[in-house]
Amino acid sequence: MPELPEVETIRRGLQKAIVGRSIAGVEVRVPKLFHGEKNSIIGKKVLNVDRRAKQIIVNLEGPDDLLVHLKMTGQLIYRELRIKNCELRIGKQTAGGHPSKDWFDELPNATTHIIFDFSDGSKLFFNDLRKFGWIKIVNSEELKVNSDLGPEPFSEEFTAKKLAEIIASKPKWNIKKILTDQSLISGIGNIYADESLFYAKILPTRVGSMIKYDEVLRLHTSIIKALNIGLKYGGSSENTYVQIDGSRGKAQEHFQVYSREGQKCFGCDNIVKKIRLNGRGTHFCEGCQK
Ligand SMILES: [Zn+2]
Repeated sequence: MPELPEVETIRRGLQKAIVGRSIAGVEVRVPKLFHGEKNSIIGKKVLNVDRRAKQIIVNLEGPDDLLVHLKMTGQLIYRELRIKNCELRIGKQTAGGHPSKDWFDELPNATTHIIFDFSDGSKLFFNDLRKFGWIKIVNSEELKVNSDLGPEPFSEEFTAKKLAEIIASKPKWNIKKILTDQSLISGIGNIYADESLFYAKILPTRVGSMIKYDEVLRLHTSIIKALNIGLKYGGSSENTYVQIDGSRGKAQEHFQVYSREGQKCFGCDNIVKKIRLNGRGTHFCEGCQK
């Protein structure tokens, strides 16, 4: 599932691509993935693109905004309309039909469920292989009120002291469960929890009450570090995640423990282990993490 670095990479891409463009049409191919009256957003201009935890908020003119959750396999891919050599092109896609190895050249494709048309002819495609993702029309005011999410890691609110309070509030939970609970901290999922705990040299199985304050300080720095590496490399494309131009992220090439089970640790001679914890695959090094 896309986590903060992946969703933030998409948000930044959308911010550059669609702000200032007006929605000319919405084609909903799978109704269960789109909630709201689509006609209410036709003609509305995109003012801003925001993110809250793993959700993207497309700020529109008027009282309504769009809330997007990519869940496991959602994708947002943007194509500009270009006229080139008298041939109509939508981004890399050729209307004349030159087959290409890159399946994103074929948009819409079988996983495309919602298409936004902008007034300049560009398009935003919502693809979702497993159909768990969704797009909702929401009232801007309701969005502000309805927030049961913990602080954003990059916000001023998220200090080491705050992290210590969060950990102290769940003395019996293992530290990985604490990091991935969205009501405690926003945006950290399985990947970046494992990476953060590796950098902090803390075993994911340790419970909140056993984490010392110097470890909390290290964990705070490590969370920011792990998320920044994710952002720097455009998110991780282990599964279906892509950036808005359809290209894959490269963060997975920089993971220390996540999905490296059975391989030698970069920090010592141990082999990276994988266990089930809180129902999720959990990666760590017993040599580096205590
Ligand atoms: Zn190690």
